[in-house]
Amino acid sequence: MTCIFCQIVTHKLPADIVYEDEELVVFRDINPDAPIHLLIVPKRHIDTLNSLDEQTAGIVAKMVLVAKRMAELHKTQSGYRLMINCGRAAGQVVYHLHMHLMGGWGQKPGRP
Ligand code: AMP
Ligand code: ZN
Repeated sequence: MTCIFCQIVTHKLPADIVYEDEELVVFRDINPDAPIHLLIVPKRHIDTLNSLDEQTAGIVAKMVLVAKRMAELHKTQSGYRLMINCGRAAGQVVYHLHMHLMGGWGQKPGRP
């Protein structure tokens, strides 16, 4: 198994996991771009958003709902950003579908 996120979701590699259920794992980004920077990751290996179809796209709705719960839990529900990079030109580095949740900027609006 060479995919780093597959290794994290199966607990073969350590990560700062903050949430887990049957389908998703959430852990802190190792190189955060915001005071709160979490990665919401399906347990199932899907390389990019482009690989989703009618049968599998429902996972994204679950990722969004967990992101909302994580924003509440981390007290950043008043301002947070969700991002999925798809493809190298967009900055995707890890080819295992994941959603970035960034927040925690306190009262300051705008980008970190
Ligand atoms: P992306 O550019 O959308 O593919 O995002 C990949 C993200 O994964 C980057 O923000 C990295 O900092 C993060 N990352 C890479 N390896 C790890 C790791 N072992 N634990 C936590 N985050 C990681
Ligand atoms: Zn994987």
